[in-house]
Amino acid sequence: VEKIIEDEISSPSVFKEKHKLYPEYTPSSLPHREKQLKQLAQLFKSFFSSPGEEMQRVMLVGSFGTGKTVTSKLFGASASSLASRNGIRLKYVHVNCYKSRTLPQIIYNISLDLGITLPQRGLSAQELMRGLIEELERRNTYAIVALDEFDYFALMSSGLNSIYVLVRAYDEYVNKKKRLHFIFISRSISTLENIDPSSSTYFLKNIVEFSPYTYSELYDILKERADEALYPGVISDDELKYISMIEGYDKGGSGSARTALEILVRAGESADSEKRSSITLDDIRKAHVIVKPELAMLQDQVSALDRHELVLYLSVIKALKGSGSGFVRIGDVEKIYRVLCEAYNLQPRRHTQVYTHILELRSMGFIQTKSSGKGFRGKSTLIGISAAPLYVLESKVEELLKRE
Ligand code: ADP
Ligand code: MG
Repeated sequence: VEKIIEDEISSPSVFKEKHKLYPEYTPSSLPHREKQLKQLAQLFKSFFSSPGEEMQRVMLVGSFGTGKTVTSKLFGASASSLASRNGIRLKYVHVNCYKSRTLPQIIYNISLDLGITLPQRGLSAQELMRGLIEELERRNTYAIVALDEFDYFALMSSGLNSIYVLVRAYDEYVNKKKRLHFIFISRSISTLENIDPSSSTYFLKNIVEFSPYTYSELYDILKERADEALYPGVISDDELKYISMIEGYDKGGSGSARTALEILVRAGESADSEKRSSITLDDIRKAHVIVKPELAMLQDQVSALDRHELVLYLSVIKALKGSGSGFVRIGDVEKIYRVLCEAYNLQPRRHTQVYTHILELRSMGFIQTKSSGKGFRGKSTLIGISAAPLYVLESKVEELLKRE
C-alpha cells in the first residue's frame, strides 16, 4: 500500500504551482479589468483627497466568474497600501454574505477582521453598528467593506430592513468623519428591485459593470495563469484557445473565467492521472464534462438519435480524431460520412440535407460550429465536439449502430 501511495505522490505533474489556478488565489494582474479598476478608483477619488467627507457606496454587478471578487480584493489591497503611503489608516474587509447571513453576523465579522471585539450577544444590529463606528473613530481608522454574494442577503426578507442600517449608517452622526465605506457585490441588478427605493438610489448611482468574458479575453487570462501554474510546453496555444472557445461569451459560452480555469485544472489532472507530460484536446473534453455535469446527460441522449444522425455524428467524431485539432471543415466530415454510409448500408444525403442535420445536432448540443472566416478556399463551416472525449463518444456511437 505504501508503495502505491508513494509512487503516486512522487510521480511527475504538469502543474508547477497548481494553487495559482484556484479561485482563492489572487493573481497579481487582471487582464481586461482595467476599466473596472479605473471606475473604482474614480469612485473612491474623494476618499483620498478628503477622507471622511463622504461615505462611498459602490455596487459591482456581473454574472458568475466575471472577476468581481478578485477585482474587489485587488482594489482593496492597493487602496490600503496607497492610503498608508499617504498617512491614512485604511483597511479592506471582505465579507461573504453566503456565510454571514444576518446583519449582526455581518457586522460581527467586519469587526473581527478589523481586530475589534464587540460583544457577541445581546446587542441589536444598530447597537453593534454604533460600537463599530465608535471604535473606528477611536482608532482613527477607515474601512472599505466588501459585501460579496450580496444577493443572498438582499433576497432575504430580513435583509431589506438591514440594508437600510448599512447604507445609512452615518445618518445619526452628521458631524462625524465617515469611516465606513461599502462595496456591494451582486450577480444582477434585479436584486435591487427588492430593496426599498430610498436605499436603492444609493446603489444605482455607482454601479460598476462586469461583462462576461469574450473568447479573446479568456484566452489572455488563461495564457497568463497557465504560464504561472503549469510547466512550459504542457499546454499549447491552440488548446488554450479551445478552452476559451468553449467558455467565450461571444461563442455561446457563459463567459466565466472561473469555469475556464476549472477546465484547465481538470484537464491537467487528467494528464497527470495518465502520467503524460502534456495536456491533449481529449483531456479538455473530459474536463469539460466534469465541470459541467449536464454534459454527461447529453452522452446518454446520443441513444435517441436515429441511424442517419448517428452515422453523421460518428463522421464528425472520426474527422476530429483524424485531424487532432479542435475543429474540422464540414467538407472533411462529408467525405467520411459517404464512406461510413456505405459501410452501414445507408443512402448518403445531399450536402444541403447534411448541413440541416449538422444544425440539428448543434441545437441539441451534440456539436459546436463556427465559421472559418475567409481563408484561401473561401468561407466554410467548422465543426467541433467538446461534450466528451472523442474515444468515449466513438465507442458509444459505434455500439449503438451495431445494435440495430
Ligand atoms: P466572480 O466573483 O465574478 O464570480 P471571481 O472574481 O471569483 O469571479 O473570478 C473567478 C476566477 O477567475 C478566479 O480564479 C479569478 O482569479 C479568475 N479571474 C477572473 N477575472 C480574471 C482576470 N481578468 N484575470 C485573471 N484572472 C481572473
Ligand atoms: Mg465572487
